[in-house]
Amino acid sequence: RRTIGVLALQGDVGEHERILGLLGARTTRVRRPEDLVCIDGLVLPGGESTTIDRLAREFGVRDALVARIRDGLPVFATCAGMILLADRIVGGIRDQQTFGGLDVTVRRNAFGRQNQSFETELSVAVLGEPPVHAVFIRAPVVEDPGRATPLAALDDGRVVAVEQGALLATAFHPEQTGDTRFHERFLAAT
Ligand code: GLN
Repeated sequence: RRTIGVLALQGDVGEHERILGLLGARTTRVRRPEDLVCIDGLVLPGGESTTIDRLAREFGVRDALVARIRDGLPVFATCAGMILLADRIVGGIRDQQTFGGLDVTVRRNAFGRQNQSFETELSVAVLGEPPVHAVFIRAPVVEDPGRATPLAALDDGRVVAVEQGALLATAFHPEQTGDTRFHERFLAAT
């Protein structure tokens, strides 16, 4: 049985834990470097990337996170998590850092006022049918996928899900719908 760490500094931690539990994984909350020792995979939840970045540094867990991700730890990152996993961000606040790992450029808060939050059906070829019901909440987009493989895009072509080796990231929140397919794909990589 796999143990999956969920970074639990801020954000929708409980939603990820619930789905991972449904899929038979053991979960553990990550706040300190020692919490990373026994995990087979890591979830970076949705929330507020600037806050999670700041808390990760305050809790002294950032460097250990960066190192584990660089060493190949499988990661599933949603929304704010996607920002934190990106090597480069556009529209971050001053001094905002990411953990990095995913060779993408992400634009933070990419949707204007009208569309700060919206839901849409996304076809995701690697998940098959039916399309994914995707919930976007002040979401980022992938501006440059770099070496990552785009998995889903909006009708206007903007990339909102990518994969690079054992790293999987979505600009939307699969943890907030009943759809477990992204979590299953992540667990298969652990
Ligand atoms: N806008 C948030 C950020 O910059 C992300 C929003 C979310 O995770 N729902 O971190």
